[in-house]
Amino acid sequence: MFCYHCQEAKKNVACDTAGICGKKADVSSLHDLLTHTLKGLSFYAVKAAEVGISEPNIDQFMARALYSMVTNVNFDPAVFVQLIAETVQRREYLKRLLLAKGVELIVDLPKEAQWQYELIDQAAWVKIGETLGVMACGELSGEQADLHAAREMLMYAAKGLGALLEHIQVLGVFHVEHYAFVHELVAYTLRTDVSLDDVLAMSYKAGKQSLLVMALLAQINTEKFGQPEPTTVHLDTWDKPGILVTGHDFHDLHDLLEQSAGSGVDIYTHGEMIAAHAYPAFKKYFNLVANYGGAWQDQKTEFSKFKGPVLVTSNSLQQPKKDYTDKAYTSGMVGWPDIRHIDKPRSSEFKDFSVIIEQAKKCEPPTPITKGAVIVGYGLQALTALTEAIAAAIQSGDIQRIIVLAGCDGRHKERRYYTELVQALPKDALILTAGDTKYRFHDLELGEINGIPRLLDVGQTHDFYAVLAFLTHLQQIMQLSHVSELPVSFNIAWYEQQTILMMLALFALGIKDVRIGPTLPPFFSAGILEKLTQTLAVKGIDTPENDMAAMLGIESAPAEPQAVETASQTNL
Ligand code: SF4
Repeated sequence: MFCYHCQEAKKNVACDTAGICGKKADVSSLHDLLTHTLKGLSFYAVKAAEVGISEPNIDQFMARALYSMVTNVNFDPAVFVQLIAETVQRREYLKRLLLAKGVELIVDLPKEAQWQYELIDQAAWVKIGETLGVMACGELSGEQADLHAAREMLMYAAKGLGALLEHIQVLGVFHVEHYAFVHELVAYTLRTDVSLDDVLAMSYKAGKQSLLVMALLAQINTEKFGQPEPTTVHLDTWDKPGILVTGHDFHDLHDLLEQSAGSGVDIYTHGEMIAAHAYPAFKKYFNLVANYGGAWQDQKTEFSKFKGPVLVTSNSLQQPKKDYTDKAYTSGMVGWPDIRHIDKPRSSEFKDFSVIIEQAKKCEPPTPITKGAVIVGYGLQALTALTEAIAAAIQSGDIQRIIVLAGCDGRHKERRYYTELVQALPKDALILTAGDTKYRFHDLELGEINGIPRLLDVGQTHDFYAVLAFLTHLQQIMQLSHVSELPVSFNIAWYEQQTILMMLALFALGIKDVRIGPTLPPFFSAGILEKLTQTLAVKGIDTPENDMAAMLGIESAPAEPQAVETASQTNL
């Protein structure tokens, strides 16, 4: 096993015996075989697209399969065995379509496009996967090592795109061009005639594409659930039994709310699902009462204290603890062996959540762990409405700097940096956030600048698109030629593959001085880092005081950081 595709890779090198995330070596090995076969599928999909063959089922399968390997999504070896078999079958189908069209298949096929099996055999496939992972080509050095790492990065970008596309698919939308790009991206990893600059350029292209996909997801969410609007979300608990919903999938939340309305069961959000409170479609449900707990990594203690059932709708799953195993449910591509999974029957538009609702009725109310309230919902429309006021405050000097502090939270204790950074920022710094890194600071009492809240929470990870769209609008209103000319600094808390897309999007836009933390990605090889440093001045994080001073262009931190109170108290 060798996995280094998230921020929690062991010692920031790689998980090599078992994943810190809970991924076992056999699952890691099956991921490697699935990745191998998906490259072969994309190889044929690109050829098929060249002659006008379009197979939406294969495209959608591709997105699901990529998404299944995103960190903290699925840990069930049986799922990956099925996906591998299906990948090969779909590849062979494409091959037959090409042959029927008279397309001559090249003799010198990549091995990824040829892998075949006779029998479905999990144990044998685990062994094969062990020969295909990141380290399969042995120790590399120089440009070869850089190229290898850059190709890996392309696959992580593809997995992030797969996740976004799957979120779109479950909302019933399919735009072929995004899938065509994913195939192009995955097939590109097979190219041997490219330089490091070529591969990096392709990764930036993936970053740009991700903004289009994020924008599409935001648009569909808005069409289905309404325009998000600034909304106060309570963090305390009520005296009725509840169901806790975590992840990103608004469709699941909607179905659950619809089915639980009037049942006497309250619904609480967790992690990135907190963003749902801002959407008009969810506000009509009186039993959507509050957000419970913090970010995804706190789930093991918080799910136990919640008492009622927990529904994990997208990535963010950790190995369930025994004391809530019988109350944990997964949905969509998320899975853990022996944890109950709720799927949509083929004949129905809705998932049936009645088993969870009935179980909740017999549970105790949640144990209080937080109190107070936070404000969410500064989506693109709400941000755009503030553009004139923010532009005026920048011009008058009332806003000195905009700090974009976005991304995911995680377990590393070094992530307290994000709390300390926000605490250290002066009162004339405006903060934009998206994703769940906000849990490090969203309950701080940060005040306002000319009536504008200093912390503007845009939403989930994919709403990062709205941050960039707003900044572009602000730049235009201020008659500047590039976002970088605004007084803005980007500080990305990366964790998994969707936050890798955030970084790549910024690189693609030519935004310099992006800070990445709490550690730099382990797949940034020496050569990749050198290129990123030279061309874009990409950097890791330093102390909060030094970074604050650098972002604000002052020589050293002020002696007295502002006093900050918390609006809520955790761990009562
Ligand atoms: Fe380790 Fe992250 Fe890979 Fe899990 S996803 S095995 S924590 S590097």
